[in-house]
Amino acid sequence: MKKSIVTREGHRIRLRDLDPGDDAGLGTKAKAQARLAEDLERLRQLQLLLYADNRYALLVVIQAMDTGGKDGTIRHVMSGLNPVGCVVTSFKVPTPDERQHDYLWRIHRAVPPRGVIGVFNRSHYEDVLVVRVHKLVKEKAWERRYREINEFERTLSQNGVEILKFYLHISKAEQAKRLRARIEDKSKNWKFSEADIAERRLWGEYQEAYEDAINECTTSWAPWHIVPANNKWARDCIVARAMADRLESLKLRYPKPSVDLSKIVIR
Ligand code: ADP
Repeated sequence: MKKSIVTREGHRIRLRDLDPGDDAGLGTKAKAQARLAEDLERLRQLQLLLYADNRYALLVVIQAMDTGGKDGTIRHVMSGLNPVGCVVTSFKVPTPDERQHDYLWRIHRAVPPRGVIGVFNRSHYEDVLVVRVHKLVKEKAWERRYREINEFERTLSQNGVEILKFYLHISKAEQAKRLRARIEDKSKNWKFSEADIAERRLWGEYQEAYEDAINECTTSWAPWHIVPANNKWARDCIVARAMADRLESLKLRYPKPSVDLSKIVIR
């Protein structure tokens, strides 16, 4: 089975060919944790530069099946960042106000401004996932959305928003384990919802919807990172490294001072 991958335009993937238990070559949890610490330090410094440089925003989209680890990833990977320059937005069932607009309205409003890292916990992809699986709109309407989403993401990327999309890939067996833990572990009871059991019955439909969303919305400007996520430590490492690498690739720099500092004397 293949390892963690970044999708490429014109190359369709099948989720069942990708191993959710892959360790991405990290070997052991201890090794992964050491590498994560290094990458978190890189991220911390790059975030400062992103803010000072003020040309780009970084938009991180996180999608996963229920129990896939969105919250844990955000907690671990964003832990070292300066909260002032990092905004997390969680997208839930649209509110009555949001329903009065097109589906991208609430998304566009939450896109981070230049200098800021924005993290989407769920995203516009729900509008081709849960909406498709539960038939909340007609097929014609959700099918059209792939193209609309690609155009939307193209507009963002041409206007200084760097997009990183992560699909946290867990197996059905791993989901069962995590749901059971929510019942057995008192500190996790609050996370349990009967709706998760009903959604689990739709595992196949969701995987199909994810596969289409990933394949249809793989573009040169916003491909998907398929992250093996049965191992939480491998997952966190892959996400942190991809973020740091992307920021590094931007060749961020501190702007030149607006005055000749050699002439300034502080008395
Ligand atoms: P999470 O599972 O992300 O931790 P919640 O338990 O509050 O958070 O679940 C959010 C719910 O909102 C999910 O069931 C998700 O499918 C749903 N949701 C998000 N976006 C939409 C949308 N556009 N249309 C319908 N449902 C949505």
